[in-house]
Amino acid sequence: MAVEKNYGNPELESRLKDTNYYTSDSNKDFSDRVRELSGTISHMCFQCGTCTGSCPSAPRSSYRIRKFMRRAVLGLEDEALTDPDLWLCTTCYSCSDRCPRDILPTDVIMAMRNLAFERDIVPRNFLKTVQLIYNTGHGVPNNDVNRAAREKLGLPRDPPTTHSYPEYIEGIQKIIDHYHLKENADRILAEGE
Ligand code: SF4
Ligand code: SF4
Repeated sequence: MAVEKNYGNPELESRLKDTNYYTSDSNKDFSDRVRELSGTISHMCFQCGTCTGSCPSAPRSSYRIRKFMRRAVLGLEDEALTDPDLWLCTTCYSCSDRCPRDILPTDVIMAMRNLAFERDIVPRNFLKTVQLIYNTGHGVPNNDVNRAAREKLGLPRDPPTTHSYPEYIEGIQKIIDHYHLKENADRILAEGE
């Protein structure tokens, strides 16, 4: 059974219970919110780099998940949320499968994206995808080239999704409206015109 260490020094004990590191740029609230939203233990990251080594985006771009883990631990909010690389994660979960400390780096990235959205920092292509899902039920809607290819393969021209059952689009819109996602996407895109 684990026994709690007792150093007999209240100040040291309270410092040991604080899982954050601090630099002059640290925002402790950012670290806490990332931990809360991601539901994972980012402060346990020991920077081994297994996540970056597993990441399919890393060899093709400047994106390094390990760097974002460090920013989560150090509370480097602006550095994390204004870095365009934040949006290069494909959410494939390879890093989460392999992290030796059982951290979920993917969920850390998703938490950071949510926090970026609160500050209207979202790439335009993501906002346009929101609009497409809202209007068609698809991030990448079917098109005539695909329809012809499907026909050639003996498939129906449209898949059995909202393309074949548009009556379900209304349900998708209700969910998106609940989070004001489309409304915010429209607003941010319009402001950038
Ligand atoms: S694999 Fe886990 S412990 Fe290693 S750097 Fe990535 S998040 Fe940190
Ligand atoms: S989930 Fe994201 S960060 Fe993790 S390995 Fe996949 S692309 Fe890389």
